[in-house]
Amino acid sequence: MRRTVRLKLTTTSEQTIVLPHSLPLALCPVCKRVVEVLTVEQSTMVLNTEESALGDLIADRIAHLVQTEIGDKVVCKDSLIPK
Ligand SMILES: [Zn+2]
Repeated sequence: MRRTVRLKLTTTSEQTIVLPHSLPLALCPVCKRVVEVLTVEQSTMVLNTEESALGDLIADRIAHLVQTEIGDKVVCKDSLIPK
């Protein structure tokens, strides 16, 4: 059975984004703990923004960029979605 987590976010427009129930984990260098991470594509969907705007958020350390052991660049979910 495939389980999903539904998140409803309100920005300038309302949308429902479906993320996989089980997200990969990685050590966030900003939070200094293991966090769930999203791909860049998932992050832009969550933020309803362009990849360039996500880059600005990462540069400002609002969004936390995490590099995985295999070199993938992913984004700390906690930095995008307040608990
Ligand atoms: Zn983080």
